[in-house]
Amino acid sequence: MRDQKLRFITLLTALLIFSFLFISLVSYFNAHKSISTQIKENTLPLTSDNIYSEIQRDLLKPILISSMMAKDTFVRDWIINGEDSQEDIIHYLQEIKKSYGAITSFFISEKTRIYYHPSGVLKKVDQSDVQDKWYFLSRDLPSSYEINVDIDTADKSSLTIFINHKVFDYTGEYIGIIGVGLSVDSTQTLIESYKQRYGRQVFFVDREGDVVLHGSSYNGVNNIKKAEGLSTSARKILSSRKSTVAFKTNNKNTYLDSRFIPEFNWHLIVTQQENEAELKIQNILISNLTFSLIASIVIIFLVNIIISSYQKKLETLATTDKLTGTSNRQIFDALFKQAHGHSKRNKLQLSAIMIDVDYFKKINDSHGHPAGDKVLQALAEVLKNSIRESDSLFRWGGEEFLILLPDSNVKTARRFAEKIRLKVAEMIFTLPPQSLPVTVSAGVASIGDTDTADDLISRADKALYSAKENGRNRVEQA
Ligand code: GH3
Ligand code: MG
Ligand code: MG
Repeated sequence: MRDQKLRFITLLTALLIFSFLFISLVSYFNAHKSISTQIKENTLPLTSDNIYSEIQRDLLKPILISSMMAKDTFVRDWIINGEDSQEDIIHYLQEIKKSYGAITSFFISEKTRIYYHPSGVLKKVDQSDVQDKWYFLSRDLPSSYEINVDIDTADKSSLTIFINHKVFDYTGEYIGIIGVGLSVDSTQTLIESYKQRYGRQVFFVDREGDVVLHGSSYNGVNNIKKAEGLSTSARKILSSRKSTVAFKTNNKNTYLDSRFIPEFNWHLIVTQQENEAELKIQNILISNLTFSLIASIVIIFLVNIIISSYQKKLETLATTDKLTGTSNRQIFDALFKQAHGHSKRNKLQLSAIMIDVDYFKKINDSHGHPAGDKVLQALAEVLKNSIRESDSLFRWGGEEFLILLPDSNVKTARRFAEKIRLKVAEMIFTLPPQSLPVTVSAGVASIGDTDTADDLISRADKALYSAKENGRNRVEQA
């Protein structure tokens, strides 16, 4: 019974722990999955869209200014008329620079190859000079303007855009290149704000994977091919117009979204670690597990109490005589063992008294079976009230009772039996329509050194038999 209970509780515990763990982990992994999907499919592409449109907005202004400069009749007339008073064009370039907050403005004449600059310093561009190569490249391009980015190699967080716009005379003849250099402030501000507000890293790499522009708090590598966990995906990023990659850095999942920016010939890269959102669902997992543990403990505790109480009830039911409420024979072995052990340990004598109602058949016959039951119940009450706490009382058979006395020798036991006999004999059992006297006979025996329970019972039985033989309503000892 106890083994079964243990098995049941163990099974229940395992089942509860398994179910709670399963539910918590499944919901954790689902949340985890939806977070990474959200980052990969929404957050990062949206960020790169925003940055790209900011770049296009940033480019709009210098393109417009340059195109306006290229169409300016003063500029064209001044060139066509032989670039006579140089201070006029220098003044014009100064005004453009001042009015639009440009970093620089410039004009290069195709005819004279003079590079006009607002500072007034003039130089000539030369095809053999590497520094001047850009002019000849821009000139030979099919498009009317070209965007050039200039990065400060010492400070990769600042970016200037140059627009080199072709100038044509009124007949469509190419006569030079004009334009401005402007810093892309709002793109940079946006890159910073993504870092500050969302912990998203935004940077640009050229076609070789070298990081060419980043926010001021960038702390990554110089080339994405060298980044931890990225070396294998770098080729994919650099060869596609758009890509999404997940990788691990410092044991944390990181997501990367890349997009090619044709205006710069660069790849825009946005990365985010799943950190904060992840932390939230990890906390949820921990509180779920804690709750599950507490719930399991409470459930197991309650179930244990309920089972124990039912177990106790069942055990009592199985070992108690229904009619008299005394112990029955089922539990005799266990209680005998206990009493015997107690006597041995304390060097005491274990005795037994077997009690039997005299002429009980007659009571049944003359007053009916229910009346007989009442006599047995009343007798049991007398016996229960007479024994000590250490004694045990059993209904041994129909109208036979057994008392085990773990600390009485045969003499004491006999005296006790005598007391009971007298008490019963003096009692009047009221059984309508008339009251009747009831007597009992008793046999007393003490256990010998080598005696078993059966030996003790059988000697008490024999003594009882003698008491019956010798006239009933008396006590005999073995
Ligand atoms: P003796 O003095 O020799 O013991 O005579 P007795 O009549 O008591 O003898 P016996 O042991 O033959 O009879 C016992 C009777 O007890 C027989 C049986 O019908 C009756 N009996 C057994 N169990 C119950 C019970 O639970 N209720 C009632 N009312 N009678 C019972
Ligand atoms: Mg009898
Ligand atoms: Mg009998």
